[in-house]
Amino acid sequence: MTDCLFCKIVRKEIPAREVLRDEHVVAFHDLNPQAPHHVLVIPTVHADQLTAFASAASGAQAASLLAAAAEIGGTFPDGYRVVVNTGKDGGQTVGHLHFHVLGGRQMTWPPG
Ligand code: AMP
Ligand code: ZN
Repeated sequence: MTDCLFCKIVRKEIPAREVLRDEHVVAFHDLNPQAPHHVLVIPTVHADQLTAFASAASGAQAASLLAAAAEIGGTFPDGYRVVVNTGKDGGQTVGHLHFHVLGGRQMTWPPG
C-alpha cells in the first residue's frame, strides 16, 4: 500500500470532488484552482512521472488517461490547456502522474 496522496484519492481514503472515475482513471477538482475550471486527471495505477507511466502502463491505461483529459477539455468550446509538471524544474509537487486540465479563461504564453 503506497502512502502517496493521489493513491489515497484513488482508494477513497481522502475525499476529492470527483468528476470522473473508471477502472483506469480518476479525475477531480484541484484544491487550489489556477483557472475557473481546474481538474486533475490521474491514472489509478501509481507512476511518479510520465516516463515511468509510459514504460509501465498498458495501452488501455494510457488511452484512458488521454481520453479522460480530452473528454474534460472538450467541455470548453473556446479551448483549454493540459499541463504535466514534471520533476523539480517542471514544478511537480505531488509524485503521482497527473494531467492538469485548465479551462474557462484565456491562458498566457510562455508559462511561468
Ligand atoms: P503539481 O504541482 O503539478 O504536482 O500539481 C499538484 C496539484 O495537486 C496542485 O495543483 C495542488 O493544488 C493539487 N492538490 C494537492 N493536494 C490535493 C488534494 N488533496 N485534492 C485536490 N488537489 C490537490
Ligand atoms: Zn500514487
